[in-house]
Amino acid sequence: MATERTFSIIKPDATRRNITGAVTAMLEKAGLRVVASRRIRMTREQAEGFYAVHRERPFFSDLVSFMTSGPVVVQVLEGEDAVALNRKVMGATNPKDAEEGTIRRAFAESIEANSVHGSDSLDNARIEIDFFFSADEIVG
Ligand code: ATP
Ligand code: MG
Repeated sequence: MATERTFSIIKPDATRRNITGAVTAMLEKAGLRVVASRRIRMTREQAEGFYAVHRERPFFSDLVSFMTSGPVVVQVLEGEDAVALNRKVMGATNPKDAEEGTIRRAFAESIEANSVHGSDSLDNARIEIDFFFSADEIVG
């Protein structure tokens, strides 16, 4: 095991319901430390760039509209095996498949409005952290 950093977004469905604290509490309870955090309204260009890997998927345009529909909280999380640990506490993409005790089981509204994003690999975590944060904004 190694200390890692991963990237998280608390999505617009969660900011709209004023549950950013409740979501963050579950991340912290799982052993993740918030070492950077910023509330932003993503531009269409940012959302399209961030989700570029999904450009060809049928849900891409809806996803970009959703991610720009309200504020989000972008975060850097640090901890042992942070990438896998965050994916575990997030739960499955579709809340119907998410295990008890996960953020998406507790809070997600739908497969799209599923409350959180988390990097799916260490390489993508680095890319996604760099997309939103400069080094001096991350304080571990
Ligand atoms: P994320 O990348 O947000 O952490 P994920 O890795 O669990 O989620 P992906 O397959 O990368 O899931 O999909 C990215 C996001 O696109 C999902 O979190 C969800 O908001 C949306 N999405 C995925 N599949 C669908 C779908 N079938 N219909 C609508 N939206 C979807
Ligand atoms: Mg993903």
